[in-house]
Amino acid sequence: MGTDINILPIQEWFHTEKEPLVIAGPCSAESREQMLTTARGIKAISKVHIFRAGVWKPRTRPGEFDGVGEEGLSWLRDVKEETGLMVATEVAEPRHVELAQKYGVDVLWIGARTVVNPFSVQAIADALQGMDIPVMVKNPLNPDLKLWIGAIERVYASGINRIIAIHRGFHYFEKSPFRNAPMWEIPIELKRIAPDLPIIVDPSHICGRRDLLQSISQKALDLEMDGLVIESHYKPEIAVTDAAQQIKPEDLKQLLEALIIRDRKGDIDFQHKLEELRTEIDKLDGELLQILAKRMEIIDEIGEYKKDNDITILQMKRWAGIMEDRLSIGTHLGLDADNLKHLLELIHKESITRQTQIFRNKK
Ligand code: PEP
Ligand code: MN
Repeated sequence: MGTDINILPIQEWFHTEKEPLVIAGPCSAESREQMLTTARGIKAISKVHIFRAGVWKPRTRPGEFDGVGEEGLSWLRDVKEETGLMVATEVAEPRHVELAQKYGVDVLWIGARTVVNPFSVQAIADALQGMDIPVMVKNPLNPDLKLWIGAIERVYASGINRIIAIHRGFHYFEKSPFRNAPMWEIPIELKRIAPDLPIIVDPSHICGRRDLLQSISQKALDLEMDGLVIESHYKPEIAVTDAAQQIKPEDLKQLLEALIIRDRKGDIDFQHKLEELRTEIDKLDGELLQILAKRMEIIDEIGEYKKDNDITILQMKRWAGIMEDRLSIGTHLGLDADNLKHLLELIHKESITRQTQIFRNKK
């Protein structure tokens, strides 16, 4: 990515000024009435640009509602005709791409369950050959940035250069209030690798519940994400899929109006002050690295000493004591216990690796 991939920046093909790109609509197309009623509510919100609905739904078990199929595309076409909104749907197979094109769908997306499978993504990419349509690529279910990038590259290689990445959170084994853990470091790393690639956030699938949507949407904007996809249904309580996370168009309107759109750059005084603080951080990081290197030098010395005296590397009791002591000091200093534990474990891992090396070298 980066130099060899030349994705069009969103400002060059979608006029949203400073505003985030907002996509909203039901998780699934259920009926013509549900689609049009919801779309009328959404049309009344000037901040929404694109109407979404899934007509093919990948479900965990057979027998569950798996979408209305082609008929739903005709309802999307009706929505487009009546409201003038652009419309988007999920494609998971080449046939979906062809049908979506036939019904005039404006934007396609590839879902999280499809992105995990490079064969499926490639089949879709092949079907996209020669088409001029924006394609959104959701992150895969598992936190694997390379897999996400790979899917984007496949779509790009088929000639599509209006691509948007959608961050919808990741399956994670640790308990959290979210349906899918946000792991912001992953989309942030994607932004670093591909600065021109627009990334929008899907708070609905991250949160899995309505009450968290506002704060995750705000966080997305504060992290310079380029837009939001939010599921909206005229009557969420009767939604066939994802009922707990959908919101009524009027609630969506409130959510969007309450969002604070902060400046990405700020004025010149702000820039100067920021520069000053960043210089200080650079200096501190330099000192931190020096200290870390010094620590490792002493670790090496201890390693030699252990080796010469035939003492084992891992001294469990000592390590447990260090952990307890440093955690206590660190948390008193206001550092987060979990993150600090993680950092100490990494430092310990590096120390063990170095001492193992010394033992191996000095047979
Ligand atoms: C969806 O957007 O409705 C959907 C199925 O999302 P995901 O692929 O992110 O689970
Ligand atoms: Mn959904």
